Amino acid sequence: LKGFVGFSNLPRQVHNKSIKKGFQFTVMVVGESGLGKSTLINTLFNTSIYPNKEPKEPTNETPKTVDIQTITADIEENGVKLKLTIIDTPGFGDYINNENSWQPILENIEARFDAYLEQENRVNRKRLIDTRVHACVYFIPPTGHSLRPIDIEFMTRLHHRVNLIPVIAKSDILSDEEIKSFKSRILEDIAYHNIQIYQPPIYDNDDAETIQENKDIILSMPFCVVGSDKPFKVGNKNVRGRKYPWGIIEVDNPEHCDFVKLRQMLIRTHMEELKEYTNEVLYEKYRSQKLISSEV
Ligand code: GDP
Ligand code: MG
Repeated sequence: LKGFVGFSNLPRQVHNKSIKKGFQFTVMVVGESGLGKSTLINTLFNTSIYPNKEPKEPTNETPKTVDIQTITADIEENGVKLKLTIIDTPGFGDYINNENSWQPILENIEARFDAYLEQENRVNRKRLIDTRVHACVYFIPPTGHSLRPIDIEFMTRLHHRVNLIPVIAKSDILSDEEIKSFKSRILEDIAYHNIQIYQPPIYDNDDAETIQENKDIILSMPFCVVGSDKPFKVGNKNVRGRKYPWGIIEVDNPEHCDFVKLRQMLIRTHMEELKEYTNEVLYEKYRSQKLISSEV
């Protein structure tokens, strides 16, 4: 299945009209440099959306802001078109004073809401361009301890505005036991700070298989992920993974990490759900708060 991403089963998620128009889907990735954001995006979409770049030489200059970059790719699969936008936030948490690292990211998300609101308020509302962020994948460094203040701050500031999907970055460097206890400590922190992360809704009238799938997704959160675009031979199969003296950690093997679950949720089963939640809950809340604050 090389080159196959899997969004072409989107028609099962939505009706025909949106298929013809094509899908727009916008994902933001946040986390410190070197945590594997670009690699994971390439692994997810099976393409080199990010060209391989030479790592930057460290310099004495300190850039002052989180730099926000947008990359758009048109991909087509079995006649289904997807306009995919990746918003990358290099620089987050990389500076000596990271106190307000979350701020430019929140501003960017809200500016996209404003742009949508502005279009809705126009007389001619025929073709609304939706650049709102539908999911934010937040990379937690694989420390094995618990969430750091900067993680808590970021998630607390952002969870009312975007579907937050925290992941444990580079999880291949942790053992199974370390991952297990790290996950439960992260979940405790998330609960303690009342942080809302995205969870697939469970509908009673779904079929048993879908319900089980969604439960499995929820139980695996926060997903531990491994990114790689390098294929290795295992037996007579080519697998994507990372090589260690004792063996290969396979990206697409659910026994090795949760990459498949993340991809499943983001692309194959919950893309439309993430868009709906963004529109009907997150954006709606922003819009009504804005209306109230503009009433004098
Ligand atoms: P970014 O700065 O967050 O975009 O990180 P990159 O994707 O550029 O990756 C930084 C370095 O980490 C590169 O050398 C990658 O090969 C490596 N890397 C990326 N993903 C993983 C992973 O899942 N595990 C390990 N061990 N290394 C990774
Ligand atoms: Mg990068």
